[in-house]
Amino acid sequence: MQKATKESFKQLIVDTGMEMLATGLTVGTWGNISVRDPESGYIYISPSGMDYKIIKAHHVVVLTDTCELVEGECEPSIEKHMHAAVYRARADVNSVIHTHPIYSTPFGLTNTTMIGVSEDFIQIVGDEIYPAYPYELPGTEELGVTAVNALKGKNAVLLPGHGLLAVGSSLKMAFKICTVVEKNAQILLYTKLLGGEIRRFTQHEIDAMQSFAKNHYGKMNQEM
Ligand SMILES: [Zn+2]
Repeated sequence: MQKATKESFKQLIVDTGMEMLATGLTVGTWGNISVRDPESGYIYISPSGMDYKIIKAHHVVVLTDTCELVEGECEPSIEKHMHAAVYRARADVNSVIHTHPIYSTPFGLTNTTMIGVSEDFIQIVGDEIYPAYPYELPGTEELGVTAVNALKGKNAVLLPGHGLLAVGSSLKMAFKICTVVEKNAQILLYTKLLGGEIRRFTQHEIDAMQSFAKNHYGKMNQEM
């Protein structure tokens, strides 16, 4: 039997789209946002090819985690397969954001692991994140498979020649992860310009920072 859908989740998608545009994480209609209602398991996803400035709550599409339509008058984002694949693989994830950011994309393009060089990255994203190879075309189920494989329990993955996929316990957290990954990418690229050896965090420091984040931000991360 079909469960109830919630307006609050639709509005979250609308608001995050505007925020994504304002912060320059993506341009035009590219990128896509989804959130999972832990109660029903339904996925609320942005519509395909629609400008974030005109998306309203009723344009948001509701799907099951196997991409069956629950509710919606628009076409869901073409990356619905990638979003659904993440939700099926990660019970801890309740939001997925895919963007086309400038500074993170070269790492995927050159098959370069992005090491964490800032404390915020280590705390909420992971010690490092990986490019998803082999290359798969946008909108395919295969892209979902390679993205999930390359996530390896971290909270972001680099899509070669394409962009970034960030996941979080809430939409707020997934958005924060997008911005922190992009900042870390920018820092890494500037550091390479400056030259010199990059100081890597030790495993002890990584463990300490991640356990701090888990204990102190844990509650905050559950909030929308
Ligand atoms: Zn894309």
